Amino acid sequence: MSRLICVSNRVALPDATETSGGLAVAVRELLCQRAGLWIGWSGNISDRSEFDIHHGRFSAVTLDMTAEEHEGAYLGYANSVLWPVFHNRLDLARFDRNFYGSYAAYNIRLAVVIASLVRPGDQIWVHDYHFMILGRLLRAQGIENQIGFFLHIPMPPPEAFLAIPEFRELASSLAAYDLVGCQTTNDVGNMLACLRAATGAELLPSGRLSIAGEAFHVGSFPISVDSQTFAMAGHQPRNTTIKRVLGVDRLDYTKGLPQKFRGFAHLLRAYPHFRRQTVLTQIAAPTRDSVEVYADIRQELEGISGSINGEYGDVDWMPVHYIHRSIPRKRLRALYRSAAVGFVTPLRDGMNLTAKEYIASQDAADPGVLILSRFAGAAEELQQAILVNPYCVEELGDALAQALAMPLAERQSRHAALYATISRRDTTTWATDFLEHLKRAGADMRTRYISSPAA
Ligand code: UDP
Repeated sequence: MSRLICVSNRVALPDATETSGGLAVAVRELLCQRAGLWIGWSGNISDRSEFDIHHGRFSAVTLDMTAEEHEGAYLGYANSVLWPVFHNRLDLARFDRNFYGSYAAYNIRLAVVIASLVRPGDQIWVHDYHFMILGRLLRAQGIENQIGFFLHIPMPPPEAFLAIPEFRELASSLAAYDLVGCQTTNDVGNMLACLRAATGAELLPSGRLSIAGEAFHVGSFPISVDSQTFAMAGHQPRNTTIKRVLGVDRLDYTKGLPQKFRGFAHLLRAYPHFRRQTVLTQIAAPTRDSVEVYADIRQELEGISGSINGEYGDVDWMPVHYIHRSIPRKRLRALYRSAAVGFVTPLRDGMNLTAKEYIASQDAADPGVLILSRFAGAAEELQQAILVNPYCVEELGDALAQALAMPLAERQSRHAALYATISRRDTTTWATDFLEHLKRAGADMRTRYISSPAA
């Protein structure tokens, strides 16, 4: 029977009680329904080269990273080159020549492990920017199976992409996949523009792209959430005297947290009647603490929240509740439901699942209002949110005032439209849709090489 082999940076183990994030939930669901393997990093750093297999409701294969791989491939190339550049933060990228060598070496190690496990007919699904070149390396191992790649983060425009010294290797590696999936149609447009600029890729009449005679598909597959799970948030009485504005993010510079805090301060300054009537609760889950810019943003946020509380707070009311801790998803649901405003303002984001989770958790009879950055992938679908420019602090404050004063009928009609959109797809339909397209794209394998095979 054909199995599914998923590859992602981290994996959930079969006996884990909680899985968070759209990718993890979707892969777990899939592998519980269909035989397969989930391959990725164990989270440990050591010189052990063997991999471990964990059996349960599905099977997971984990590898340790060496200290060199962790520094160069993970913290270095993936998170200090690809992550900032793909989020349009060239100023934060660290172009160190050694990083790409580590990234390629770690990807080769993965390719060898996969080659030892794969069987004819297995589908291989590679996830995210940690493994952009893995498809090419798997082909070099002689693997002819269907291989798909999904980019969870945004695809940047060519001006940013071409600033990566290894842009040619990255772009031409993508042609080794049968299908490359992005979150939005905007990302697909950027992907076409980048591949054209980097490699002279051509769009074929069949809709496929061709790079040096090698043809593959590119498409958009917006990831979603299990709206029904969130809808079961239960009855959560909303505090009618003090309205909560809620933000739930990883503490990442792409999430626009300083601007968000300043936007809230603008609300308190420009609309003083909301003072004492509203609080901003911001969950900022720790992430990549060992990368320097992440420590900087933490310090900056503590400074801003302290100064807003100092300026506007009183003994019986603190305007900003800043929580630098990860909250379990079960608790998040109730928190989403109790919030009058979901305040989701990343400067750039592949999708942003918290926006969809907020919508899914609302009580349809008395829903809260979603304020959403135009630069989150989710904005392409969630047009009935209050869409904002996350860089413009005054616009953020004005949007908060609009949301906090929004009449019930308007809240209901916006929420009904947003809920209808997100409930059309869940994580399982997202994954099965991608894999169906991969199957069809893989059937074109016979015609992968249009003219001459790529070297
Ligand atoms: N999340 C969580 N606890 C937290 C913060 C976030 O479980 O304290 C979850 C959240 O529910 C969502 C995911 O982490 O499912 C974040 O996904 P999103 O697309 O919003 O952003 P990313 O972190 O992938 O950039």
